[in-house]
Amino acid sequence: MDAMVERLLDEMEEMCRRIARSSLVIGPGGNLSVRLGNMVIITPTGYSFESIRKEDLVGIDLTTGERVMGRLKPSSESHLHLACYRVRDDIASVLHTHPPYTVAVGTTLGRIPPMVAEMPVHIPKLEFLDYTTPMTKRLADAVAQKIRTTDTVFLKKHGMVVVGKSIADAYDKTLVIEESARIYVYASMVGRPQELTEDEIRDVMLLSPGG
Ligand SMILES: [Zn+2]
Repeated sequence: MDAMVERLLDEMEEMCRRIARSSLVIGPGGNLSVRLGNMVIITPTGYSFESIRKEDLVGIDLTTGERVMGRLKPSSESHLHLACYRVRDDIASVLHTHPPYTVAVGTTLGRIPPMVAEMPVHIPKLEFLDYTTPMTKRLADAVAQKIRTTDTVFLKKHGMVVVGKSIADAYDKTLVIEESARIYVYASMVGRPQELTEDEIRDVMLLSPGG
């Protein structure tokens, strides 16, 4: 097998385990993909992240949507992944998870308050989508529309879609959002949460590359 494909399969298997350990999904929920040229390698449907091995991963042709590698059925959200790659030439990975703190806070407040500096620095724009039935073309189209202008889309009562220049990039951004949401929930238990102020956000943005 092509050395590049082999390397990506190893990286995806490792990342699937990390995602499972990070409690970003429960059971067979969520899915991860990476693009290599015109092929999208994606997790199979019905498998939990911790159980996925590299031989379970599925290759799909980005143009036709047909399976070109592997023996299992691709993720039930593979349309969503393909739709994202089709509108963004600059991304190499799509990660869809069900992070519990993010879903709880985002669905309740309609936003994820910036509780730590990493939030405004690494997540410049978090788009929100109203509830849309999972696994439908409607959801895939709605996410792709948002992904044109942001790397991070919140799905009300459902989860997150995060795209990145690499698998690690998409994973790290998902973790930053979940961490801010988690801190917000903990803060709510002990008092009134204090998010970063506009001045604090401005100051930290001046220090960050591109800020
Ligand atoms: Zn989902």
